Amino acid sequence: MLKNYRLKILAQIVIAFAAAIYMFPLQANWGLKTQTLFGKKYYAVSDIAKINHLQTRRSGKRTILSNKNHEFYFTANSQKATYNGIELLLSHPVADHGGKVYISYTDYNTVMLPLLSRKSLKKQTIRTIYIDPGHGGNDVGAQGRYYNEKSLTLRLSKKIAAELRKAGFKVVMTRTYDKTLTLDKRVEIAKGGKADIFISVHFNAAADKSVYGVESYCFTPAGAASSNSSKIDWSSYSGNKFDRNNFALTYLIHRNIIHNTKALDRGVKHARFLVLKKINCPAVLLECGFITNPNSEKIIGQNNYLDKIAKGVARAMINYRNAVR
Ligand SMILES: [Zn+2]
Repeated sequence: MLKNYRLKILAQIVIAFAAAIYMFPLQANWGLKTQTLFGKKYYAVSDIAKINHLQTRRSGKRTILSNKNHEFYFTANSQKATYNGIELLLSHPVADHGGKVYISYTDYNTVMLPLLSRKSLKKQTIRTIYIDPGHGGNDVGAQGRYYNEKSLTLRLSKKIAAELRKAGFKVVMTRTYDKTLTLDKRVEIAKGGKADIFISVHFNAAADKSVYGVESYCFTPAGAASSNSSKIDWSSYSGNKFDRNNFALTYLIHRNIIHNTKALDRGVKHARFLVLKKINCPAVLLECGFITNPNSEKIIGQNNYLDKIAKGVARAMINYRNAVR
């Protein structure tokens, strides 16, 4: 009787423990102590290094965290960072306080962890990828001297779709011809088709015609400001369900595009674009070059450049599928 009772208690403890691990998967932030600096939660870089088996080096404003697979460069009081040579824009500046360097809780969880550990990502079976060619119909998008955004996004999206199909993915496009489509409708189409991944394709514009390069966006985490604004939004949206997967996906696509095209790397950034906000699967918005820069426009219009991007996206999707399986 007593033995049975003990066994029952033991079984309950095992079940409770298993449930706790299921609900709070083992992640590399166990044992990290948060510290409030400038009203935000931060982790000491030395603690992050210890827990993730990284070496840390400091020279002036620069802090390097690295081992044989990973290399982060951080700059004190700056949001700019690099990971394995790719530019990243953090949600909060790196803090330098009392002789120690700190990374924000948000950036550790939504930028560093997805890069350091596949275990931090939600598991996914990738069946259907939605490609969303930006603009269309009445909405021309950015305009250059020779091209407009709506036709370039369609040309590139068709190439991306073809490369992804070659790699064995099922691909659906939100539009396959020159047609007006609201942002809400694009999200609706993807949701209705049970999209596993959503990729929105754009080209960039700037008033300053000298600006060029490629940048890639994932949805801004709650409590952070987007890369191009200072407004902090504490609300959590549909797009926040996959913060870590969003970042891993965006980084992989961005890295492969930069690698293939050798374009100027403007970084992996965060924005609250409507399609990223309302979507219910991991998503990315690509800005594949500045149509307003005369030199870039010539390159962007070439099939050779668009092919390199399409191949990069397909390669990244294979990397991502392996990371989340
Ligand atoms: Zn656009």
